[in-house]
Amino acid sequence: MIIDISDLENDKSMDIEIDEDFEEIPAHASGMLTVKSSGDFVLIRGNLQTEVELECSRCLKIYQDVLNVNIDEKFMKGAKTPITSKEHQMRKSDFIEELDGITEIDLNDLIYQNIIISIPSQTLCDENCEGFSELKNYIKADENVQTIEIPLKVKNNNNK
Ligand SMILES: [Zn+2]
Repeated sequence: MIIDISDLENDKSMDIEIDEDFEEIPAHASGMLTVKSSGDFVLIRGNLQTEVELECSRCLKIYQDVLNVNIDEKFMKGAKTPITSKEHQMRKSDFIEELDGITEIDLNDLIYQNIIISIPSQTLCDENCEGFSELKNYIKADENVQTIEIPLKVKNNNNK
């Protein structure tokens, strides 16, 4: 969803209902964002209930989780002077993005970035996830196969 902020008067705000799929993650985000014009800045804030499909970092199972994605972004309106990429990076680290006179903001891109950073690095399908239980079973099965092979080798030796 792309919003046009050119008609947004100073100190006025607009509420935008979000109900979007993000197939790349995959995730579904819903909730309300408030876009506010404030002096030289445009502020976008809100909370999105986000259903995500994650892979458990212990057992690698795909599971569903709901993240509360907090959006709090600040854009600087129409900066006239060109900025170097270094300055741009410094500004990015302050979470301020230059709009450079552009009056449209891609909300989907903004939401996408926020979902990505909200996904925990340690994903767990369940607090009590036992990890690779299926893999353990697989190793056990493999050991059984080996114990079958050993008598066969003994048998072969006896045939000599
Ligand atoms: Zn798990």
